[in-house]
This record gives sequence, structure tokens and C-alpha cells, in this order.
Amino acid sequence: MLTLAIIKPDALAAGRAGKILSRLEEAGFTLRAARLVRLGTADAEAFYEVHRARPFFRPLVSFMTSGPCLPMALEREDAVRALREVIGATDPKEAAPGTVRALYAESKERNAIHASDSEENAKREVAFFFPDSAPV
Ligand code: ATP
Ligand code: MG
Repeated sequence: MLTLAIIKPDALAAGRAGKILSRLEEAGFTLRAARLVRLGTADAEAFYEVHRARPFFRPLVSFMTSGPCLPMALEREDAVRALREVIGATDPKEAAPGTVRALYAESKERNAIHASDSEENAKREVAFFFPDSAPV
């Protein structure tokens, strides 16, 4: 089963991409596709469409377009649930010790990594970034 992670602009700019991928590989994930992208405003709005009405939508879009990010398709048994567990809570102050956000996130807004939150969204989000071919 595949899920989508994005190493967000804060973590990429801080040089934490390698450490984060290492942590994910230690947790049993295999990298199946990856690309470095600078999202445009329309891309970020489409990706986070479900949050359009939320007060944090504009700052979220602004942050996600502020620099390059690294979407990755990751494979593992029970991938969606397992990735949510290994990234930790949205706010790093509430994230369990050893999770990616506890280790590497700066704040609730600049929180290092995205992960799909359901199998349906994982399919949509993998196709959003890797539309041309099934990940290898
Ligand atoms: P992501 O979707 O990025 O994996 P998540 O599923 O843990 O994060 P969501 O509720 O989907 O959290 O929110 C998407 C992103 O919007 C969060 O990662 C965070 O950067 C930002 N965000 C969410 N809630 C808030 C909030 N109350 N205040 C500020 N930013 C927020
Ligand atoms: Mg989410």
C-alpha cells in the first residue's frame, strides 16, 4: 500500500530532508517516487482544498509556496496509519517523542512534513504529484 508524504519547505531549507527520510526508512517505508517541486499558489490551494474555509488556509498556502518541497510516495503495509503515527501530532509540542514532528518541526504552522490522512486521500495525493506513471 502507498501513501504520500511531503517534506515541507521549512525542513528542506533547514537541511533535514535526509534525516527525515532516514527516520521513515527505519520505520519500514520504501521510497517509490520522489520529486523536488516549488508549488505555485494554485497547486497549493488545490492540494489543501479541503481546508479552504479554515482560518489558517492563506498562511498554509503561503508557507507551502515559500520554497521547494519534496513529495514522496512511500510503500509499507498499513502505510497510511503507520505514516501518521511516525510523523506525530500536527503541533510538535503535542507530538510523541521520536516522531518526525517532535524531532524536526519548528511549530504547528511550520511542521516539517505532511502525510495523507486516509486511504482515499492517499490515492488522490499520490496521483496529484505522480500522475504520469504508477510509482515503481
Ligand atoms: P498535514 O495535512 O500537513 O499532514 P495534519 O493532517 O496534521 O497536517 P491538518 O489538519 O490537515 O493537519 O492541517 C494541515 C496543515 O495546516 C497542518 O499541517 C498545519 O501546518 C496547518 N494547520 C492546521 N491546523 C492549524 C491551526 N490551528 N493553526 C495553524 N496552522 C494549522
Ligand atoms: Mg492533513
